[in-house]
Amino acid sequence: MTTYSQDLIIAIATAPGRGGIGVVRVSGNSLESLVNRLFTTPIKPRHAHYLPFNDAHGKAIDAGIVLYFKGPNSYTGEDVLELQGHGGPAVLRRLLARCLEAGKDLGIRHAEPGEFTHRAFLNERLDLAQAEAVADLIDASSETAARSAMASLSGAFSDQVNTLGDRIVHLRMLVEATLDFPEEEIDFLEKYQARDALEAIRQDLQSLTKQARQGMILREGLHVVLAGQPNVGKSSLLNALAGDDVAIVTPIAGTTRDKVIQQIHIQGVPLHIVDTAGLRETDDTVESIGIARTWAEIEKANVIIHLQDARSHQDQLDTAITQRLPARTPVLKVYNKIDLLPDNQRVIGVDQDLALGISAKTGMGLDTLRQKLLDIAGWNPGTESPWLARERHLTALQHASEHLALADEHASQNDRVLDLFAEELRLAHEELCLITGQFTSDDLLGEIFSSFCIGK
Ligand code: GDP
Ligand code: ZN
Repeated sequence: MTTYSQDLIIAIATAPGRGGIGVVRVSGNSLESLVNRLFTTPIKPRHAHYLPFNDAHGKAIDAGIVLYFKGPNSYTGEDVLELQGHGGPAVLRRLLARCLEAGKDLGIRHAEPGEFTHRAFLNERLDLAQAEAVADLIDASSETAARSAMASLSGAFSDQVNTLGDRIVHLRMLVEATLDFPEEEIDFLEKYQARDALEAIRQDLQSLTKQARQGMILREGLHVVLAGQPNVGKSSLLNALAGDDVAIVTPIAGTTRDKVIQQIHIQGVPLHIVDTAGLRETDDTVESIGIARTWAEIEKANVIIHLQDARSHQDQLDTAITQRLPARTPVLKVYNKIDLLPDNQRVIGVDQDLALGISAKTGMGLDTLRQKLLDIAGWNPGTESPWLARERHLTALQHASEHLALADEHASQNDRVLDLFAEELRLAHEELCLITGQFTSDDLLGEIFSSFCIGK
């Protein structure tokens, strides 16, 4: 377990700037003395007191609500004191300074980013996946993301991970009990239908992984790169999808030289759309730098839109571009400017499944494009309400699944190696514990909590 600091920590918990109220929050093993120094009237835990907040000379800095929570019944699991004053930067700074002064010899100091939640985790008020959800809820940029972060925070994800973990442990205990009685090894697997149990666990793990993948798309968003020849309408399409003028659109070929990224949401899924320099043969050094950057962006994309002019699509250069696109990345071929085609030619000869005619200018086909972007990226949340997941969660689920596959292999062999079977179950369980933080290195914890904001 992480070394636990006994310091009292303090921070302004509300966002910088002006607001109706602002909150200064303190947490520590015992805040009794601090509370007695700050207030002359007794403060009853879990009651709201309206009181003046005085400086050391008894002069009011502000007046507001005092809330006092005795540990372990608090956010951090320690004693927590909240001063809710007026939400101005100067008054909150003075309140903070007053508490620092009053608690000087009690070891009070500024909290590090995420330190309140870190303590809540160490005191088992929430697990690691839930702690991460706290940050995600604060960071949520769409209602879907906020709803999903809240689902994770309430344990929708952790509960499933724990249930699977318990089933794995149960199976392993059966195996290990058998290991002590070697003569029983042979029929153990049949007797307890161990392979069926394993199979059921593997299936549930698989569907959990699928959900986690959705949760990750929702959290991280998709990197969509607009690639194509100059003047096919990449910048116009970005603008049309974004709904305002972010990229420079000009009729001169080769004007988008630096990348422009716009974040949009489709059905609550964040998409980071990257407009790039047009791809063509060029002797111009500046332009060729832009083209090199475009290829670098293409390498990083989750989805590529290969945009072409509907009037001249799949010409020699487009064929060359197609051949150079990375095979691992889904490509959506989109033919733009269909408004310039006669009515009866607007349904583009679809040479493969993923081709689509649009007009960035009139908006024709854009709804289909939005839907296809989500489809091709694998967005398919199903009926279950999604929760947010991170890359590290997905990795752990995949590793767990690999261990279970190995366990099954051991069980299927003629000489059924039960101790190896049990060992793989143990490793699979350990991977699941990484998600909820039962086995986690200090480094990882540091990394996770340092990305939080101050005061949370
Ligand atoms: P980019 O170089 O690929 O980024 O292309 P731009 O977005 O700068 O557009 C090049 C030219 O094509 C501009 O004059 C646009 O107004 C025009 N354009 C873009 N999309 C359409 C479209 O769907 N229909 C028509 N008629 N013109 C378009
Ligand atoms: Zn452009």
